[in-house]
Amino acid sequence: MKAVFFDFVGTLITKEGENVTHQNIVREVLRKAGREDLDYVKLWEEYEAESSAMFKELAGKPYVKIRDVDTEAIRKVAERYGFTVPEDFWEISIVTHERYGQLFPDAVETINALKDLGLHVGIVTDSDNDYIEAHLKALGIYDLFDSITTSEDAGFYKPHEMPFRLALERAGVEASEALYVGDNPAKDCVGAKKVGMMSVLLDPNGGKRELWGDCDFVVSKLSEVVEIVKGLMGK
Ligand code: CA
Repeated sequence: MKAVFFDFVGTLITKEGENVTHQNIVREVLRKAGREDLDYVKLWEEYEAESSAMFKELAGKPYVKIRDVDTEAIRKVAERYGFTVPEDFWEISIVTHERYGQLFPDAVETINALKDLGLHVGIVTDSDNDYIEAHLKALGIYDLFDSITTSEDAGFYKPHEMPFRLALERAGVEASEALYVGDNPAKDCVGAKKVGMMSVLLDPNGGKRELWGDCDFVVSKLSEVVEIVKGLMGK
């Protein structure tokens, strides 16, 4: 084992933090549009429904900027309620992610333990480059990673094999020497398997049990990854 790559949202940062972030983005959009009379939680749910439907369509497809997809999603909701999305929507989005993003409590210790084992530690994420860089810097973990590979770099969304191939190439390791850790079996485990990488699913409450078969390992805490890696290294 020479490298471990991580997904970002739902794996290094919590989905709960992401939800709070998105609620606050919608809240700020409504404030700027002068529509604080509207229920931001209800509009957030509609925004989530729009964007997750759009991202479902994009899985495995050629990359288009996430800022454009997200902007389109909020625009659809705004149209429904007759207000205009502020020009600086993406800037609002990035600043709010920086403010409310929440690391899993054992993320940093896990990354450091893997680095102490002499491994290359990287990220492979469906993300725009400006978003991931700003977000990692705000969380204070940007410098911990040896490589960061986005779908913007690779030109495709997971589970397409390109993001995984590019990450392996950057790390200079074979697929059989690398492990991918994610929270989405269909994107993370399936994508890793396509290139011959083993995968670990982070499934804290066991809610994804039906899809465990796509993954080589399942953990409920990030720090368990260290034991798996040590086992694979024969330590
Ligand atoms: Ca994820």
